[in-house]
Amino acid sequence: MTPLDESVLSVRNLSVEFETRFGPLKAIDNISFEIGRGEVLGVVGESGAGKSLTGSAIANLIVSPGRVSGGEILLGGERIDNLPASQMRRVRGKRIGMVFQDPLTSLNPLFRVGDQIVETILTHLDCSPSAARKRAIELLGEVGIPSPEERIDSFPHEFSGGMRQRVVIALALCADPELIIADEPTTALDVVVQAQILDLLRALCDERGVAIMLVTHDMGVIAEIADRVAVVYAGRIAEIGRRDELISQPLHPYARGLMGAIPTVTGTDRELVQIPGSMPRLTAIPKGCAFHARCGQKFEPCDIRRPDLLDHEGRKVACHLYNSERRAA
Ligand code: SF4
Repeated sequence: MTPLDESVLSVRNLSVEFETRFGPLKAIDNISFEIGRGEVLGVVGESGAGKSLTGSAIANLIVSPGRVSGGEILLGGERIDNLPASQMRRVRGKRIGMVFQDPLTSLNPLFRVGDQIVETILTHLDCSPSAARKRAIELLGEVGIPSPEERIDSFPHEFSGGMRQRVVIALALCADPELIIADEPTTALDVVVQAQILDLLRALCDERGVAIMLVTHDMGVIAEIADRVAVVYAGRIAEIGRRDELISQPLHPYARGLMGAIPTVTGTDRELVQIPGSMPRLTAIPKGCAFHARCGQKFEPCDIRRPDLLDHEGRKVACHLYNSERRAA
């Protein structure tokens, strides 16, 4: 079975706007993607590209003056973007697990980790307090906390950064979610612990079949565990495809820059490149392709027409270079 034989999350034409005194600003513009059972989708881009906002929109965590202004979000085939807040809270705790960069966003420093996990289990599953505690110990063991039957009664500050992040992952797994949204889960950790946490997420994906949306600015993280990659630029998907193809042969000029290398005419040699300039602010997204001011390959339609995300040899890319009609014109 390939991962997308069974879609867990389906995001269709999602748009997010912010109300400002100058009118609505589009922060996410018509984004679509799927994540299959047992699949890790890496969502990568520079800070401010809209990748974390996409995760927040899926979990219904966008607050005013932001709002989802269009599109649909389906979890296990059911729409969740139009649920009342109370129902969505249950979906978020039970069917969607969240892991953020700072474990203390998810853990209350005043309570023992076991009490927090047990409370979450009791909120979402029909079981006794003693069964919930047993389950909490099992979960802590599963995420690699040594002597979980003792550590369950520790406070968050009694764990190292990496161990705290493992506790957060255990918390996210409490109700056996279908989807985990992990937003920069390893950014604050040293490289050794980072690799351990990524291995853990990959193993959970393979063993439990959970779908993971992994939001990061770090291509190294993507290269480590993603099955597919969505490159996001200025609120839109620039390219989406299988990790190996996207890393070895990125199509979109921005994706090539992100990979830090471009293929040369002779094929295998690669030379390092840096993307000049910076991503435009939301208030100053230019007409046409949002990347055109930084693109060394721009041609006539690029500063006039916005490229659509189109199929290209099994991938999808939003760039006029791969649109034969535009090139011919
Ligand atoms: Fe560059 Fe044009 Fe492609 Fe945009 S559409 S990435 S400007 S070639």
